[in-house]
Amino acid sequence: MGKRSSRMTRRTRVSGRRARPFRRGGLWGAGAALGLLALAALALVFGFSGGRGSGLDPGEARISFLDSGMSDCSVIEAGGGVVMIDCGDSGSAGEILGFLEDRGIDAIDLLFITHPHADHYGSAVDILESCRVEQVVFTSVPDSLQPTADGYFQLLDTLERLDTPVEIASVGQQYQLELGCIRVLWAGEEDCEDLNACSLVLRYDYGRRAALFMGDAEFSVEKKLMESGAELWADILKAGHHGSRYATSADFLSAVGPGMVVALCGLDNQYGFPSEEFIQRVQEAGAVLYRTDTGGSISFVTDGNYLRSEA
Ligand SMILES: [Zn+2]
Repeated sequence: MGKRSSRMTRRTRVSGRRARPFRRGGLWGAGAALGLLALAALALVFGFSGGRGSGLDPGEARISFLDSGMSDCSVIEAGGGVVMIDCGDSGSAGEILGFLEDRGIDAIDLLFITHPHADHYGSAVDILESCRVEQVVFTSVPDSLQPTADGYFQLLDTLERLDTPVEIASVGQQYQLELGCIRVLWAGEEDCEDLNACSLVLRYDYGRRAALFMGDAEFSVEKKLMESGAELWADILKAGHHGSRYATSADFLSAVGPGMVVALCGLDNQYGFPSEEFIQRVQEAGAVLYRTDTGGSISFVTDGNYLRSEA
């Protein structure tokens, strides 16, 4: 499919599925989510924004995990398409924008906010103001857990002012990229016990390679994912909740079978992430652990067959 026709097709579709209006406290409401369920099966093609990664050969995709302190930010460069999964806390905009500049990325096709905690959306306003973001995707949150932070309302106001297309993800939804595809494996549910359990869980597949992004999901979500029969195997596992002791169970590691596990966390953080229990489970699973607190940002490059790390 040519770039011009792809863009036109996508524009047309997106314009018909906007999650409006942006009433405070209403964006993640059940009504909006239900209104979008019928569209869950749509597979769109992303990858024509003008965002371009650098240093990649044709056919290569890069998955990067940024050292954004005690927060989450991952970036997938897949051909011409750029996907960001979470965007750090309010203090990490400089780091994230610097990364994008270094890579020659001037637009983001899809920005997933796995859940509305400030260490996952905190730099969104700066990124939206500095970089063209084609679409933002949120998770579904029960009314009882709707966030009330000023930063959250500021994000909603900015999205509305910039007229950025927004949607609420559903399980099974797919986003076709130029190289590979992102699938939604988990998107919260009505009786989520907390916001972490509402985290989007996303899977990126390209050829024979896959990466799993857990947001801040912990044991309860892992258990439901395993019971659901979802495709969980992956080469790279972005560990849930920054390497908390309550995430990345031995059973889940066995189901995923990753060669590499990535923990996004800040140096000497007050929560003690990554926990000793988590580190031990990863070691016992035989996976290599990458920590952004001690190792900094890490990238992996794949052409769908080979997979190599990049410092
Ligand atoms: Zn978090």
